[in-house]
Amino acid sequence: MKKIPPTFAPAGIVDGSFELSATRRGLLRGIATGVLALPLMPMARKPEAATVTDACLFVGEELARYGFPNGHPLGADRQDTFLKEANMQGLLSKVRTCPPRIATTEEIGRFHTQHHIDRVMHAERAKLEYLDNGDTPVFPGVFEASANVVGTAVDGLARVMLGESGRSFQPIGGLHHAGRAHAAGFCVFNDLGVVIETLRRHYGIGRIAYVDIDVHHGDGIFYAYEADPELIFADIHEDGRHLYPGTGGEDETGKGAAKGTKLNIPLLPGAGDREFLQAWPRVEEHLQRFQPEFVIFQCGADGLRNDPLAHLQFSAAAHAHAARRLRHIAGQCAQGRMMAFGGGGYDRDNLAKAWTAVLRELV
Ligand SMILES: [Zn+2]
Repeated sequence: MKKIPPTFAPAGIVDGSFELSATRRGLLRGIATGVLALPLMPMARKPEAATVTDACLFVGEELARYGFPNGHPLGADRQDTFLKEANMQGLLSKVRTCPPRIATTEEIGRFHTQHHIDRVMHAERAKLEYLDNGDTPVFPGVFEASANVVGTAVDGLARVMLGESGRSFQPIGGLHHAGRAHAAGFCVFNDLGVVIETLRRHYGIGRIAYVDIDVHHGDGIFYAYEADPELIFADIHEDGRHLYPGTGGEDETGKGAAKGTKLNIPLLPGAGDREFLQAWPRVEEHLQRFQPEFVIFQCGADGLRNDPLAHLQFSAAAHAHAARRLRHIAGQCAQGRMMAFGGGGYDRDNLAKAWTAVLRELV
């Protein structure tokens, strides 16, 4: 058996290349801490043109900044790479694009501890090099960038719940390794966890499906809701004996009253579309059994062949299949309500292919 890699990958050294202007930064921080008023989200309205789908794509400069400098695998160029491909495929004219917004600390605190929020907020001043054991470096504007990932997800959720969008896709998001009290594996704040908490507290939606096909196990969500019988979890990933974070065994099915509500499907290194498609019906059966009222999809692109950090061999067809089927299931039992998040993916061609495949299925 291979030793479980303790960290994701050698991470970059922090430099100043992502410096925000002092004014802009003050403004963002003011909004996040509630000192300044947040611009209100426009109320529900009909899509501008009949030819445009009711799916919403969340992209923008503030999201792109969620990336680590100096050759880190999760660089700040990922959103642009995706957008270029989406544009080339003519997808951007079919979807409404929506801008990012920063989260308030109250919103981040729906999932995270105040201690973790404070630590990230003051990480630069405290001259921390990393937020974890060496995967997730501090960089200039780390709090603002991370809070934008969360705020945008909360905004996307509001649009879906108000009926303004049927579905949303946020490529820079899906930071599934962050736990309630810590950053991990390139993930500072867990936008997915904040969405789950917001669904429950603000929209009264309890039974939520969380489906994760990122090559890494979604441990930040799994362990936060391991004993929660209403979080319907399904995760196809590379076997934890070979890959970070080392968890997500077939026997991890939930605890106590939640036993049986969690489905982990580890695949051995080298597994490709054939193995993915063999496993997929189990995900569908799992969701059908629990009839979720909302579907969250983490579609990390790092399971594709030649990802520099992992060893599976999916093609973008796997992502297209999952997105198509989840849209169908959301239509059956969740009034079509579905949010997709980009997650990992470190080969740029792969992430462009996988994420555009997902977007194509959602428009
Ligand atoms: Zn991943």
